[in-house]
Amino acid sequence: MDTESCFCDDSKGTRNNAQKIFVNRSLTLEGIKCYGFDMDYTLAMYKSPDYESLGFELIRDRMVSVGYPHEILRYTYDPSFPTRGLVIDTTYGNLLKVDSNGNILVCSHGFCFLKGEEIHRYYPNKFIQRDDTDRFYILNTLFNLSETYLYSCLVDFFAKCTRYKLVLKGYHHGDLFMSYRSMFQDVRDAMDFIHDTGILKDQTIKNIDKYIVQDPNIIVLLSRIKKVAKVFLATNSDYNYTEAVMTYLLEHGAKQSGDPPESWRSFFDLIVVDTRKPLFFAGGTVLRQVDTNTGKLRIGTYTGALKHGTVYSGGSSELVSDLLDVKGKDILYVGDHIFGDILKSKKRQGWKTFLVVPELTKELRVWEEKKNWFEELKGLDIFLAEIYKHLDSGSQDTPDISSIQTRMKILTTWMDMSYGRMGSLLRSGSRQTLFAGQLMRYADLYAASCLSLLRYPLNYLFMAPPVLMPHEAPTFNTDDFPSAPLTNCQCEQALSVTNKRP
Ligand SMILES: [Mg+2]
Repeated sequence: MDTESCFCDDSKGTRNNAQKIFVNRSLTLEGIKCYGFDMDYTLAMYKSPDYESLGFELIRDRMVSVGYPHEILRYTYDPSFPTRGLVIDTTYGNLLKVDSNGNILVCSHGFCFLKGEEIHRYYPNKFIQRDDTDRFYILNTLFNLSETYLYSCLVDFFAKCTRYKLVLKGYHHGDLFMSYRSMFQDVRDAMDFIHDTGILKDQTIKNIDKYIVQDPNIIVLLSRIKKVAKVFLATNSDYNYTEAVMTYLLEHGAKQSGDPPESWRSFFDLIVVDTRKPLFFAGGTVLRQVDTNTGKLRIGTYTGALKHGTVYSGGSSELVSDLLDVKGKDILYVGDHIFGDILKSKKRQGWKTFLVVPELTKELRVWEEKKNWFEELKGLDIFLAEIYKHLDSGSQDTPDISSIQTRMKILTTWMDMSYGRMGSLLRSGSRQTLFAGQLMRYADLYAASCLSLLRYPLNYLFMAPPVLMPHEAPTFNTDDFPSAPLTNCQCEQALSVTNKRP
């Protein structure tokens, strides 16, 4: 099949920012002997916000069917609100954005954003112990967006509904107590219900054009990779759903381009469904062979040799390494789930990791448009340093920096709002989120799409930019500033120049 003709390679040798692969740790593709791919949100890109809206409506309707008020049916999915990586505090019903250490960056209750004193009332140190996974639930995946939004809708509804009386940890209605924790559990149960019963999958497959992007470049990518390395698919989805989605992507996709389709299974040396990641990267489960005619599992544990195109269920990352005869360090695993795909494969197996971050396209666009605000924030940091530069432990003066702090808060809010109502996936003002911290720590490479691999030769050396520690970073040129400390009046003057929104 002439797969090369599918690739719209009109800009060979050039990559715009959205097509680039970003590097946290240097890695040469020449050393990669095996590429592993996740399916959902990695090879199969879901169309946003149609897919999240579908999930939202299914769990919303499920909530009503288990007894929640019919009024919540009036809520529809708003893609401008939720961001991935937020944390639900199941005790107080708040939605939090935190940094790597658990410091709170943004806090909302329903759709009401809490400010300084209100946040301190719930969290005296503006900090959460995020290891307390019984209380704090991290919404790590793109599948979580619809439940993130539904939970905020419920808090919004009960806060405004006069039938319910607000108390610290929930709402009273007669002798009924609806705690934030029970609401969270009900949303989780509804989410599990639409996944486990297959309702979400059935609806997706019925309208697959509406929900999944069919890009012939996936065929080109897999065809090119299989010429130089082994390729496997490891997905948490079951066989029937995987079959439907991959047939749509690789067989129907080939028909679209006029080429006779190969079986989608021929693109992979190994296919593993029902992987139950992150368990897959720890002990794993029993490896069974799937009967591709019936979709049923063969009884017993598979112990035979690897057969090309055979589909297996369960297993573990170690079994994959053994079956493919490759070491962990020679595997590049491409996935979208920071915890299930990337963190565990890196920590437990030493695999090289490539994180797909679909939000990056928007993040890059906003960053490009608004980076003058970030530059101003950095400038204000320098102002602050300048004010304190000539003070020491004997100084009695307390500089008034309130105007600078106000301006910093305004800039941070403007930046956040440019991304969406809960702000950026990766930062809040000059501070980085928990998600950004994990991305930098565990993903060797990251990009908006796995298709970015098409833009680089398959022996490419990705070089990480040098990261300086604070003591190694160059100091700013003090000649740009007056030698005497800036007075508050001078700060005000400096700020007044930039005090208007650009
Ligand atoms: Mg996935």
